[in-house]
Amino acid sequence: MSDAASYSVRDGIAVITLNNPPVNSMSAATRVALGAALQKAEVDASVRAVVLIGSEKAFCGGAEIREFNTDKTRVSPVLPEINDMQDAMKKPLVAAIGGFALGGGLELALGCHYRVAMPKAQLGLPEVKLGLLPGSGGTQRLPRVVPMAEAVKMMTTGNPVSGDRAKQLGLVDEVVQGDLLQGALKFAQELVQNKKGPRRIRDLQARLDGDPKAFFEAARAEVRRASRGYPAPLEIVACCEAAATKSFDEGRKEERERFLKLVEGNESKAMRHMFFAERQTAKIPDVPEDTPTRPIKSAAVIGAGTMGGGIAMNFANAGIPVSMMDVTDEAVGKGLEKIKNNYAATVSKGRLKQEEMDKRLGLIKPTTRLEDAKDADIVIEAVFERMDVKQDMFRKLDAIMKPGAILATNTSTLDVNAIAAVTRRPQDVIGTHFFSPANVMRLLEVVRGAKTAKDVLATTMKLGKTIRKVPVVSGVCDGFIGNRMVEKYGQQSLFLLDEGCSPQQVDAAAYKWGMAMGPLAMGDMAGLDIGWEIRKRRYVERPNFIYSKVGDKVAELGRFGQKTGKGWYKYNLPDRRPIPDPEVEKIIADYRKEKNIRTRQISDEEIVERLIYALVNEAAYILEEGIALRASDIDMVYLTGYGFPPYRGGPMFYADTVGLPKVLASIEKFQKGYMGEVWKPAPLLVKLAKEGRKFNG
Ligand code: NAD
Repeated sequence: MSDAASYSVRDGIAVITLNNPPVNSMSAATRVALGAALQKAEVDASVRAVVLIGSEKAFCGGAEIREFNTDKTRVSPVLPEINDMQDAMKKPLVAAIGGFALGGGLELALGCHYRVAMPKAQLGLPEVKLGLLPGSGGTQRLPRVVPMAEAVKMMTTGNPVSGDRAKQLGLVDEVVQGDLLQGALKFAQELVQNKKGPRRIRDLQARLDGDPKAFFEAARAEVRRASRGYPAPLEIVACCEAAATKSFDEGRKEERERFLKLVEGNESKAMRHMFFAERQTAKIPDVPEDTPTRPIKSAAVIGAGTMGGGIAMNFANAGIPVSMMDVTDEAVGKGLEKIKNNYAATVSKGRLKQEEMDKRLGLIKPTTRLEDAKDADIVIEAVFERMDVKQDMFRKLDAIMKPGAILATNTSTLDVNAIAAVTRRPQDVIGTHFFSPANVMRLLEVVRGAKTAKDVLATTMKLGKTIRKVPVVSGVCDGFIGNRMVEKYGQQSLFLLDEGCSPQQVDAAAYKWGMAMGPLAMGDMAGLDIGWEIRKRRYVERPNFIYSKVGDKVAELGRFGQKTGKGWYKYNLPDRRPIPDPEVEKIIADYRKEKNIRTRQISDEEIVERLIYALVNEAAYILEEGIALRASDIDMVYLTGYGFPPYRGGPMFYADTVGLPKVLASIEKFQKGYMGEVWKPAPLLVKLAKEGRKFNG
């Protein structure tokens, strides 16, 4: 027996202790050791009952992710075989749950005959978050101990419950205050004294009162509404129905079949891809993981506008004191007021305690003096998007900031190298591109300048994690990864209008496909003036860049989107729901007439292809140019910054699932269509398609 599960006997109770730090995952070695220990306990004549325990931090975290996609996952005994061993045991088996029992970890606990837990332990079946369902009896055993509605909720949301709540639900038999092992041993001794033998969950009835048909009809309707486009939640409901209406073995069989179907499906492959993609972004080939980082104990933000306030909140939320500077008392006051309102809204929703809000606000120091930034370990500039303004600010920061401080810019389009060049310390300059609202959006593009020092990059990546963002490295180019791609997406959305679509048709097709919102509704949210400004710049900088001018026609009328109550749609503010507007239809119709554009019916399928492949093609250039380190980083940018549906896995992963030759064929077809000259297939796409390879290869 290896160390992964130790065995000892105390007063007739066998104690099997899982010992596979950090989370006691069910690695192959752990399963082998556990199987052997269970057998030993069963035949050991001195043993009357068995306690299965992990550490105080982790009972068991489920499958070992480091062994995913390896043969080790198939090493016997696999978890269902362990569950069978547990069911076959003639001695009562007690799970003692400290820390967490998640996924396969909870299924292991459900295979035990009894469960005790610490009050704050976390018990859950989060498989749905990877597009899967609990595949080792979880869907059959959980509803046999907790009420069906709760079981459905736990498995379709994936959210865990505490030990205390688990006791209320029937998931654990006793909450142990104080030492977990002592409590579990006492519980086991009482079982022995009271001559209580094994109590297999498989022998119990599902906990559902009333008519299963009506219950599951309602459950399906609710889950379908809440899980737009995701297949796993509905599969979970189906398994729960089997638990209520079929024998345990039949239910298990159905669970197995549905599990395998999900494992093979693109949705769960996409979600697993995203799970690993998130863990990849911090790996930078030429910056070793042990690169020393600079301590970040204080921060400063310059500019208290839309972005500055949100960025300051990120620091305060992480317990890092931050000063927030703007030019006038009024601007600073407005910025601070917005922060307060933001926190207050969270407090009123019950998601933040008033004391915590006060503590966080106390960490934000409003000021109009730039000198107040001088001792900060990092300063993030979020002033107006103009090169002269930014360069002026960086000259000033260079003059006052202490040596070794990181000088970061939140620019969305400007050349970080040109900003760094006005300082005497370009090695300390970096881009930190947050997304609006900066306190909410998880994406942080970390823009590596030509001279950015490796330790500055490593520190900024680490800081990104500290403030709970997903940091993704981008090289310097106009728009970096995300906005450079979205420009092509926006361009197509306007061409689609030219050719005959209404804004609502384009948006509905994108939404139905899975985007959080369509491109035109997104424009209204971001502000149509922003895109208009960029286009005006493009007309000068890149005269060959082609846009439909229909976007300008809308913006010229002062229709800037939600902020003005009118854009591609109209709004009954403060209600932000878009309402189709006949005036916009007229603007578009007039434009078509002016340009002599012949309209045609365009299918939803073509709309989606043109929007998504515009992203994919530009992304292929970005990858080839080395602006992004890897295809999965681009996927992560779209998932965390642009409302791309996780079950599609990001633009690159999606293109891989469609097949690159097919993507290329569509692009070549679009080349022959309206404004076809904008479709130049990226050489990398052509090459990979020819070689039968993938972006995420
Ligand atoms: P904003 O206009 O809301 O705020 C800018 C603030 O900077 C204003 O309060 C202004 O008073 C202040 N300011 C201007 N010059 C200053 C100076 N010399 N010293 C101190 N303060 C000064 O703009 P924003 O939307 O917050 O954008 C700020 C930066 O973030 C821009 O570079 C923008 O491109 C970038 N950005 C914006 C978004 C977005 O969605 N709004 C997203 C990502 C990045």
